[in-house]
Order: sequence, then structure tokens, then C-alpha cells
Amino acid sequence: MPPSATLRSLCRAPEIGANSYFLTFGETRVVIDAGLHPKEDGEEAIPRFDLLDTDSVDAVFISHAHLDHVGTLPVLQREQPHARVYMTPEVVDLANALLHNSVNVMTSQGDELGIDAYPLFTHGDLDELDQVWQGRPYRQTFDPVWDKDLQVTFRDAGHVLGSAGILLEGAGKRVFYTGDVQFRDQSLISGADFDELGPLDTLIVETTRGRTPSEPGFDREEEVARLISDLTETMHRNGSALIPVFAMGKTQEVLTMIQNAKESGDLPDVPVTIGGLSTKMTNIYDRYASNKNRKRPDFRILRDMDLRAGTRRRGKSVPIRYQEQAIYALSSGMMSEHTVSNTFARSFLPNPANSLHFVGYSDPSTPSYHIRQANTGDLVSLDKAKDPVPLNCDVKEYNFSGHADREHLLDFIIKSQARQIFLVHGDLESSQWFQEELARQMPNSEVIIPLPGEDYNL
Ligand SMILES: [Zn+2]
Ligand SMILES: [Zn+2]
Repeated sequence: MPPSATLRSLCRAPEIGANSYFLTFGETRVVIDAGLHPKEDGEEAIPRFDLLDTDSVDAVFISHAHLDHVGTLPVLQREQPHARVYMTPEVVDLANALLHNSVNVMTSQGDELGIDAYPLFTHGDLDELDQVWQGRPYRQTFDPVWDKDLQVTFRDAGHVLGSAGILLEGAGKRVFYTGDVQFRDQSLISGADFDELGPLDTLIVETTRGRTPSEPGFDREEEVARLISDLTETMHRNGSALIPVFAMGKTQEVLTMIQNAKESGDLPDVPVTIGGLSTKMTNIYDRYASNKNRKRPDFRILRDMDLRAGTRRRGKSVPIRYQEQAIYALSSGMMSEHTVSNTFARSFLPNPANSLHFVGYSDPSTPSYHIRQANTGDLVSLDKAKDPVPLNCDVKEYNFSGHADREHLLDFIIKSQARQIFLVHGDLESSQWFQEELARQMPNSEVIIPLPGEDYNL
């Protein structure tokens, strides 16, 4: 009998949440991703690592440096001290910066909300644990555990810098995990390189946008042009523009759009300000400026753009000063309480000359969502502890998703001809849309929304 292979989802629910998956290939035991839930606190924010025997995992693979994929890696490493840890070299750098920042965020959350478990790890823990992280470039197959039958290859997932889909070959099975994927080119990062994967037995695929039909005729270039023309209009009426962005990914994409437009003369040469964490992340993006998957080879954001950066004093960001005819690309992307974009918005939103530009997703529990639902003149709440403020500035929305349209993903799944498909990283409604489509279009494949903790044979 051939050795068996299995998959167990360590996510607490079928949702985007805290991603982590346990796979076995014969005797080899591996974990893919170790996320932190963006909306839960303490224990509930951690994947079900308790379903793993202590010190039993051989290797861990991290798809990219977003918190929902890497945020609890140090927790997993403590419980699995002999696990080798692999990611792309870009993710080694980004995850280090992100997790150190996460220690600061968890420390203040711990104090504020009285969560004893926070921080889940310290700066000191990180400095020790990151010593064993190993960077592996795209398209170079490696043996993660020297004496075991498993080969792994990272493939560019086109989502953010260093993001990878992961091909695992062992126990006679070929398994591919997409991670978060975007097939379309963005402004700085090229689309995914998932070509020629060969025949797959199992595909583990994200389903983030399963609920949203693609807009027919959508053209990303036109979307960029609309943003630039809206920004220009604000500058012409002596207002300023606020673009709430995630520190890693969206910040660098938006900065590239701004630089392209300034160079072509479509946008006046106004000052651009970013936050402190964004500067750190942008620095890492610049370190990899010569990667061949860059749309603008050798463009270094911090060197080539005259940016103003927010600063931090005693671990807290110093408030950013407002000026007319300026662009502020500030995190967080969802304007969560106590973040730079949230604090800055307090005096920014009441000014009708200004404009606010949403370039990403807003979770319904966040201030950005409420602002997007509001009308001009409404009072909006930015912070539960403070008075609401009048929303007098323009609010605009754009689609610059780092995730593939559901139709693109469906196409990819069908082309893969995998005989078994696990639908992950999406709310139930999103996964179910894929499940129904695939039942129709791939009747001979097994399509599964994995239940937390359940073992599935591959
Ligand atoms: Zn992501
Ligand atoms: Zn994700």
C-alpha cells in the first residue's frame, strides 16, 4: 500500500480568519501558514495548534507576510521547536518587521483590553525564533527535511511582495496551495506565475472574492486613471487627499501609481506623506527592486520619490500635520481605532475641500465601513471613546484588490484539473459559490470546504 497523505484545517471556522493547515505525506508532517485572526483576541485569534502533538511537526511553510498567514508563527514554533521554517527571502524580511510591529500592537491591546495572553510573544522571542527561518526563491525545488520524501517549490502568487503558492510533492501526491493570489498585474507587482504546475492531485485554493461577481469590462488601468483624476481635482480646489492603506502591499502600489502619474504629468507634484511602519515596509520593497517580477524594474520608492514619513516617539506615532494640496497614504487601511489614518481623519473629514479614497476592502466592523455607508453631512464615529465627526469631504472607492476575481480563480481551478479541491480563506457564502460552480463544471472532482479539525485523505 502506498503511504497516505492527509489534510487537517487548523482554522477555527471556514472563513478568512487565522489560516493554518496541517498536512501529512507518509511520515512527514508539515504545517502551511500560521495566521493571527484579525478580529478575535487572545486564544480565539490563534489557529488550533492544540490539535498537533507537541514537537511533532517537521517543517512549516509560510505563504506571505500578512498577519492572517504569519501572525502566530512564533507561537507555533515554540510548540514545534524542531520544525524547519521556510518562506521566500522577501517574506523573511517582511515577516520580521511585521511581527515586531505586532508585538507592539499586542502589548498595547493587552494593556487596554486586559488580555493576559498578550503579547503572544516578545521582541526577544522573535529575535531567537527568526534565526531558523530559511528563505527559498521562487521556482527552486528544495527538500525541506533532508531524510524525508518531500519536495517543495514556491511559485510567485502576485498578491504582495514575496507571496507564494506552495507546491508539495510527496507520498506519490502533488498538492498545490495557492495562498492569497492575484493573477492580474498590479502597478508594482506582476500577476501570479502559476503556469505549468503539472498534473495536480489536490488543490487548496483561496476563495476571498467568491461573493463578488467581476465587473464586466473592468480595466485596472482605467481604475488607476480615475484615482489620479480624483486626486488632481482635490489638489486643484486646494484640498488634500487621504488614502487609507495597509502598510505592506497597498501602500507601495498606491505610491507607484502616484509616481507614474507625476512622471506623466497627470498629477501635480504635491507632497506625499506615509506612516512610520509603511516606511519600514517600503524599505524592504526597495531592497528587492531588481526582482524580475517588478513592473518598474529598479524603481526604488524611497530613493526616487520625495516622501514625508511619519515618525514614532516612545513606541507611539507622532500625529501627522495637515497641509493643503498634499496626499496622505496612511495605515491602517480600514481606519481602525488608534491607527494613524483614524487619528488623522478626525480633523480631516469635516473639511469639504478634502477627499477620502478607499482602495481596498473594509470589514463591516471597522470605521472605514461606516464612512463608506454614510452620506455627506452625516456624523460618523471614528472612535467609540470620542464624539462623532461630520463627514463633509468627498468619499471615493476603487477596486485595486490584491485577490483574484472569482471568475479568474474558477478558470485556474478548472484548468488545473485537480481531482480534489479544498476551498479555504473565504466566508461560507464565498466558498459555497465555488462549490456550486465546480460541482457543475468539474463533476468528477471532489470539492470540499474543510471542517476545522477534521482529517481528509488526499
Ligand atoms: Zn494576504
Ligand atoms: Zn489572507
